[in-house]
Amino acid sequence: AIVHCVGSRDKNYHEYCSQVCCMYSMKFSHLVREHIPGAKVYEFYIDLRAVGKGFEEFYNRVLDEGTTFIRGRPSDVFSENGSLIVCSEDTLADCQRRITADMVVLSTALEPKSDVEKVARLFSLSRSPDGFFLEKHPKLDPVATMNDGVFVVGCCQSPKDIPTSVAQASAAASRILAMISAGTIEIEATTATIDEELCSGCKVCSDLCPFYAISFDEEKEVSRINE
Ligand code: SF4
Ligand code: SF4
Repeated sequence: AIVHCVGSRDKNYHEYCSQVCCMYSMKFSHLVREHIPGAKVYEFYIDLRAVGKGFEEFYNRVLDEGTTFIRGRPSDVFSENGSLIVCSEDTLADCQRRITADMVVLSTALEPKSDVEKVARLFSLSRSPDGFFLEKHPKLDPVATMNDGVFVVGCCQSPKDIPTSVAQASAAASRILAMISAGTIEIEATTATIDEELCSGCKVCSDLCPFYAISFDEEKEVSRINE
């Protein structure tokens, strides 16, 4: 049995869809049936997201091979007499299912890497509410960031499949080559200032500044921007 959307599309964990697990789950079904002829495979899903070139055809192929798709989120998995029992509703057949399985495979959510905060600070990158790096504009500039010369591609920006990651990487590489071939780069001259008359010395800004550009003048008890 293969359970889709574990930790994804769930307000208790991650609201986003992890994009790749429908397809790798179906690929796993296909491989199981290829290597163990006659094996029964059940896929528990909420809805299938087979969006991509050839994906729908692959879904039909897996269906034809005999994989059973059950639309429902399992409510329980437990061990009984050496087997695993998966209990789930079946919202299409309008009934409860109780499937005996040798193995239960969870299609778990893709998450930002554990060092995402460290890398974000290193390159002064913003992160979206789901924790992934934030692009400059999701439609008009999806690989650039607010920091000129820093690009985000692949799953550090959001869950995505290999073809999309490769396309993003190619786009970023061509943008970088264009910057290099320009010879010179203009940087923004905008810098923040602190009005010493108004600064209360609370140091809140020091912790928030992503560039570590604020120091504290102990004598005057005010913060300063390092220029
Ligand atoms: S890709 Fe499929 S299995 Fe993965 S989170 Fe999205 S709907 Fe669920
Ligand atoms: S320490 Fe920073 S945050 Fe606090 S008052 Fe001064 S400038 Fe503002």
